[in-house]
Order: sequence, then C-alpha cells, then structure tokens
Amino acid sequence: MTTMQRVYKFGGGVASPDVTEGDASMNYILGGKGANLAEMCRIGLPVPPGFTITCQTCVEYDEAGNSWPDGALDEIEAATCDLEARMGKRLGDAEDPLLVSVRSGAPFSMPGMMDTVLNLGLNDESVMGLIAQTDNPHFAWDSYRRFIQMFSNVVLGIDADLFENAIAQRRLIAGVRTDAELSDEDLRDLVDEFKAIFAREVDASAYPELVVDGTVTFPADPRLQLRLAIQAVFGSWMNERACIYRQRNRIPDDLGTAVNVQVMVFGNKGETSATGVAFTRDPACGARGTYGDFLVNAQGEDVVAGIRNTEPISDLANVPGLEEAAAELDRVFGILEGHYRDMCDIEFTIEQGKLWMLQTRAGKRTAAAALRIAIDMVEEGLISRDEALMRIDPSQLDQLLHPQFDTSAAVDVLARGLNASPGAAVGEIVFSSDDAVAVHEAGRPAILVRWETNPDDLKGMVAAEGILTSHGGKTSHAAVIARGMGTPCVCGVESFRIDAVAKEVHVLGTDIVLHEGDVISIDGGQGIVVAGAVPLVKPELTGDLDTVLGWADEVRLDESAGRGYHVRVNADNPEDAELALEFGAEAIGLCRTEHMFLGDRKQIIQSFILSDDADVRAKALEDLLAVQTEDFVAMLRTMTGRAMVIRLIDPPLHEFLDDPRELAGEIARKEALGQDVSDARERLRLIDGMMESNPMLGLRGVRLSIVYADLPLMQVRAVASAAARLKLEGFDPRPEIMIPLVSITEEHVQTRAVAERVIAEVEAEYGVKLDIPIGTMIELPRACLVADEIAAHADFFCFGTNDLTQTTFGFSRDDAEAKFLPAYLHEKVLAANPFETVDPAVLQLVKMAVDKGRAVTSEMHFGVCGEHGGDPTSIVDFFNTAGVDYVSCSPYRVPLARLAAARAKLISER
Ligand code: ADP
Ligand code: MG
Ligand code: MG
Repeated sequence: MTTMQRVYKFGGGVASPDVTEGDASMNYILGGKGANLAEMCRIGLPVPPGFTITCQTCVEYDEAGNSWPDGALDEIEAATCDLEARMGKRLGDAEDPLLVSVRSGAPFSMPGMMDTVLNLGLNDESVMGLIAQTDNPHFAWDSYRRFIQMFSNVVLGIDADLFENAIAQRRLIAGVRTDAELSDEDLRDLVDEFKAIFAREVDASAYPELVVDGTVTFPADPRLQLRLAIQAVFGSWMNERACIYRQRNRIPDDLGTAVNVQVMVFGNKGETSATGVAFTRDPACGARGTYGDFLVNAQGEDVVAGIRNTEPISDLANVPGLEEAAAELDRVFGILEGHYRDMCDIEFTIEQGKLWMLQTRAGKRTAAAALRIAIDMVEEGLISRDEALMRIDPSQLDQLLHPQFDTSAAVDVLARGLNASPGAAVGEIVFSSDDAVAVHEAGRPAILVRWETNPDDLKGMVAAEGILTSHGGKTSHAAVIARGMGTPCVCGVESFRIDAVAKEVHVLGTDIVLHEGDVISIDGGQGIVVAGAVPLVKPELTGDLDTVLGWADEVRLDESAGRGYHVRVNADNPEDAELALEFGAEAIGLCRTEHMFLGDRKQIIQSFILSDDADVRAKALEDLLAVQTEDFVAMLRTMTGRAMVIRLIDPPLHEFLDDPRELAGEIARKEALGQDVSDARERLRLIDGMMESNPMLGLRGVRLSIVYADLPLMQVRAVASAAARLKLEGFDPRPEIMIPLVSITEEHVQTRAVAERVIAEVEAEYGVKLDIPIGTMIELPRACLVADEIAAHADFFCFGTNDLTQTTFGFSRDDAEAKFLPAYLHEKVLAANPFETVDPAVLQLVKMAVDKGRAVTSEMHFGVCGEHGGDPTSIVDFFNTAGVDYVSCSPYRVPLARLAAARAKLISER
C-alpha cells in the first residue's frame, strides 16, 4: 500500500536549493495559500521557505474527533527537521533560533475566518538567541510578547482583551502613548505578566500536556508549541464564523484546511522594515495601477486590523531605505499578473530593505471591477473573451443592479470615507452585530456602524443593508467582507467619533450627534454618508456590463457548433416587460394571467366563482374578457415581434377569495353592532365550500380549465382577439398559450381542442390568420413520464421547476422552507436548497421529458420558467444536462442569466 503524502515542502534555504514540491494546481491538496506559495517559489519569487500539511490531514483529524492520523506527526517532525537543516537554524535555539508562522489556508479563500500564529518557537532561551542575533532586545521581547498573546488567543481561546488591557496599563504606568515607546524592561515584564494570565486562564484538565509540576505553564518546547498550533488551525476549520462564511459562500464543509509552517520574516525590525497588502489593480473599480496599504515597522495583522493608520502603497517608494524593495515589489506585481493572467491580491513583508512575498491569490473584486479588469485584460491580450466570460461570477452582477443615490435629489453630505464596496443603502444606525440582526429580523433595514469590524461581526454584517466604519482602509476586514457579499460599505469615515457603549456618534466639525435608530444613507460607490433617507434609483445597463453581456450573447446565441441558449423573462405587466427588454431579454417565457386578476378586479373573478346564477357568471366573464384583452393588447404591443408565452389560469381559486377568518371576524363585529349579516354569512358559506385541505395539490392549473370550461374559453379569446387587433394595426404579436399543471395527456388534449376552436372563431371574426402555438407547462413527475404522449399534441414544453421540485420531493415549498429545510441543510441531509439550485433528480426528470419530446418531433422547443431559471448553477445544468433551449427568469435576473447561459455554452464546448 502506498501511503499518501501529507507534507509538501516549498522554497529553499540558506543551506539548500529550492525544494518546492507543490504548485498552483494543487489547491485542493495544499489549500490556496500553500499552492500559491509553492507556485511563487517555482517562478523564482522571494518566499520564506516552509512546508504545507495537506487539507486531507485536517479532514481526517476532524473526523477522528481531533485525533492525529497514523504517521502524520512523524512526517511533520521530519519536515520540521528538514526545514531546520535548510535554514541552518533550530527551533528554540538559545543562540540563533528559527522562528516560524503557522498559517491556515483552505482550498477557497476565506479571508480572516481562520487562525494564524506568528513568531512560534520563542521561549525564555530562544528570546536570548534572538537578541544575540539582532542586537535588538526591544524587537525580541516585543516578538515574544506578541507570540504569547497570539498563541493564547488562537490556540487556547483566551480573551485577547486580557492582554490588550495589560499592555494599556503598562503604557499608563510607563507614561507613554504607544507600544513602540515601551522600554525593553516593560516588554520583558509584559512577557511575565502574559505567562501569568495564561497560567490563570487555561483549564488544566483540558490541557494535561501544559501542566508542569502541577501547574499550567506556557509551553516552552517549540515542538509542543508547533503541534498545538497546528491542531488549533485544524480546529478553526469548524469554528462558528468559518462555518457561517462557508454556508454563505457555498463552500463545502468537507474540504478541510491546509496548514503552512513558514520561516518568519520580520516587518517589525525597524524603520527599513514594513508589512503590507496590495492588489495589482483597484479591487473596487478595476482601474489599472496597484492598490494597497502598508505600515513601516509592523507585523502581520497590524495592517488589516485597522489599529494604526496605514499608508497608501504608492508612497512606499518614498520611504527612505525602502526604495529598492518598492521597485522590486513593482516588478513582482508585473510578474504575478503575467503569470496568473489575473488581478492578484498580495501580502508582503519587507525585512530590513529585503522584500518577501507571503501570499498571493486571485483578488476578490466588486462586480464593477470584475468587468473592468476582464475588458482591460482582453485589450491587453492577457486573456481571451471566452476566458473573460468564465472569470466573471454571474451572481455578482446583481451588485451592479443595486440601487444608487438618485443624483437628481440634492444630498447634503454629512461625512466622507473610502468607497469600499459599491451600492447605496438606507437604514437605521446600529452599533453592534446583535442589534443589526435584531433590527433585520424585525423587518427593518440596518446600517452597521463600527470603529472597525472583526470576524465575530459576520452575522451582523450579513444582516445589515450597509456597513460603515470609522477606521481601516479599503483592504480592512469590513471592506473585504462587504465586497465579497455585495453589501454597500463606506470605510474610514474619520469624522465619525463612535461611542458604541453610549450608542451615539459625534460628527467632528459639527454639533451633530447621531443615535441608535437614526436613519442614515450611505453610498459605497462614492464613499459618502448622508443623514436621513436619500431616494434611491436603479442604475441602467450600460458601459462595461453592456460590453461583456454583448460578448456573452455572441457566445450563447452562436449556433455554428450546436444549439443556442436563449434568455426570456417572466413578466406580467408592460413595465416589467420593458425593463426586461432593456436588460436584454429576448422574449417573455412566462406571463402569469392570474396576476391580472388582483386589485379591484378581484371582485369580478369572485362573482364568477361564487355565484350559481348563470347571468351573473356570464356578466363576470364578459368583464374579465374585456380587461384581459386590454392587458394582452398592452403586453403584446410592447413585445411586438417577440414570443410571449401566456399561461392559462393556474393557482387555487381560493387565492382570489376573501380570507374566511377575516370574513368571520367582520361578521362578528357587524352582528355586535346589530347590522344585517345575512349576505356575509352566505358568502362565508360559499367560501367555506371552496376550501381544500391541500390546495397545492387541489383544484388548480389545467384542472380549473376542465371544471370551469368557460375560463379557458374566455382567456384564449382575450389572447386571440388582442393578437388579431394588433395584427390589424400592423404589429407583429406572437402569443403562445401554455396549459399549466398537466399530468394526464387527455387534460392537454381537451384544453387544446377548446383553445383551437376559440382561435378559429376569432380568426373568422377579425378576418386575420393567427398562428398561436399551444404548449404544456411540465411541472409534475407524471407529465415527465408520459412526455412523449403529450409531445404529440404540444408545440413546446416549459418546465415549471418550482412545482416540479415540490412534487418530486413531496415538499410543500412554504412549509419546507419555514419548517424543516433549515435543519436539512444544517444536518447536511441536503447539500443545497432544491428551491434555489435545481436538484439532480429533478434535473433528470427534465432531461427525460426533453429527450422524449425531442424524439417525437425535432420541431419542439424546451424552456424553464421556474425560479431556477435565474440561478447561475441551475442555468448551466439545464443546458448541459437536460438540453433545454431557454431559461426564463425575473427581469433583474436577466443580465445574470445571459452571462450564465454563455458560460453554460462555453463549458459544453470544452
Ligand atoms: P490570513 O489567511 O488571515 O490572511 P495569514 O496566514 O496570511 O492569515 O497571516 C496573516 C499575516 O501574518 C500575513 O499577512 C503576514 O503579514 C503575517 N505572516 C504570516 N506568516 C508570516 C511569516 N512567515 N513571516 C512574516 N509574517 C507572516
Ligand atoms: Mg493572508
Ligand atoms: Mg406551477
């Protein structure tokens, strides 16, 4: 039996050539960070050497209930010895110690979600070695206290504030303002104090390996430090915030994280040392030119933590002693973009003038930036148009259709900050994540206002409509997360003095004080904050989005190598139809006629349903015919020259009736006032008589057309006469009639016969020839099974995948989503909500029906008009697995569907 390799080396060493074993393709094995560290080594970039422990090891460790798989610890020990040999240094050495970082890194980037420990290997002896080597006791003691602090927090879960408070107190005693001003002795004392905190806070029974002579002791043995740190990183894969993040971003839970053990380099070794993060292009708007922040004499998280105010990367070259490193960094940016052919996100550290690369990955970006970068890179010849289309995540486009401030409204800017994540939001100020969740759950929009966010704020950030911070740059936690979620965000609003305890904000330079619950508006595309509610407008589809969607259309409509993939819209009124045409819809895939019965028209349909007087019913039908005809005239005129699929009446009739409980209440009130209630009582009796115990499976869809034969007569007449009238006016109406909820071929055959008769009558009446295809809405499993039978009588099939999902699973959607789907998702009974992303079994039913239909006649066409038609993953599957010709979705999903359809086509052609 061959054993699986668990540890992969990267980089070289002072006493070793490069021994890198991994590369960028090994994402699932080494995690993104590990794979790209290896790749950077391969292309000759300066990377501190180290090794990566595989994701699989984490999975096995977690699955075994936090216990090490056989042989793993030996392999890690061997790799550690090898690293020591490569560096010519040993962990814990009293003269010249090796220090390492222990870094998490999953196959998909989860920024800030998991743990990292820096400066590992320090103890009372090796700190002396560090002093001897650097001649810098301040640096050495500072590194040591940082290590204890980080190790305690990350590995043992000790509250970080305990340490921060101790530092603050020490500053007070020493009479200094910043940590940097603390003396060597202060720092050494802090180390002792930190160890005491550690000893006090750790539960001895949970960590027997930390007990020395009966008391808990900070681990001095670097090997023990290392093992505990690796275990903590493995454990962080399952911490709450990581789980929430994965759920939101649909990252599977069973991938595990890799662990990177890497030689430390120091950005905190004085004024010619620095640390920073950068993007090779602007992640907010995509503009060319590097973008990022750095801090001189700082380590690791200092930049993203927003603790100190960072400098823009463009100033790096102006710092004395950093000029060369800045030039080198510029060169590296170019190499990385050329190599990855994508915008890269980079973490680097400069140690005494020498540049070290610590991380790179394809940078997260806003939808606007994704478009801009894709277009620029096509122009620069870096990527092809097809690649550009595969780079842009369709679901991100939604961001561009986000509301913006109505520029015609005069706005008084209250404060300015950084435009960290585009889109505008209006909501109540809240100061904590819990409050954001509470306000959101109460159905009101919230703007989360914070000094800076941290990973524990994730829940609140998800719940908030918008995020505002007074600190941190465009690469701060708030900015990165908000961009990822598509939530509007303004960062670094420096004039906001936030008091989260008193729940108020003092706006500097004004006497304005904002309180919890006050409404503000933010525009994350412009970086502005306004008091009160600013009117919002939807943006138009122009510029870069238009360009990219134009490319997408070329791909998806190209029939030279197979079928095209079309995008239609679900629209019930001319306004939606017009909007959808602007968004690029080709036709209407679903026009629901029952939406046309709402409002004041409810009365008419009610009198039809509830009366047994033939005259009253006839009058109601006549009225309905009149209003429906006008509706169809308006719609068909808007859609002239384009298909419009009109579905005959579908929902259970009681949806048009009064709620019997409300009616009963009204009767009781009237009776109490001594009023006559005999009419109301009769009404209630009739409504009660219509009640069904399971309306979802009851009298609805084509069943209505069979039971109330006058209804389809009226509806088809309205459609046909609207078309006839428009034809006479010179328009090109193209209605198609769709019969819903068919499960038995005969249902379709009879309803079709009625429709054809009516169409012929109307043709004779107006003296025009009408060509109205008649098709079936396939949304029941039985219909899929007999699809060949039905196909002999149908011109098209359109799949109603909402009902098909309900009936395939036997789930009622509303009940499922409210009552048990959350548990199913949480317990992983289901991997995804089948009402959001089409279920594989449902997909098989669709495929079966398409195959059967096509076998009967190659003339038929096939579409999907359930909500899945607007889900990017489902759109790809419908084309590539089931073979449909179009999807139909709501107007705002049309741009996304055009891009997803192009990607489906590209994937099919690979
Ligand atoms: P995250 O995934 O949260 O970004 P990282 O593993 O990248 O966590 O670590 C965070 C930061 O710690 C890095 O950006 C870097 O500044 C610092 N760091 C990590 N490893 C090293 C190292 N070997 N030398 C110096 N700094 C390091
Ligand atoms: Mg990082
Ligand atoms: Mg349906």
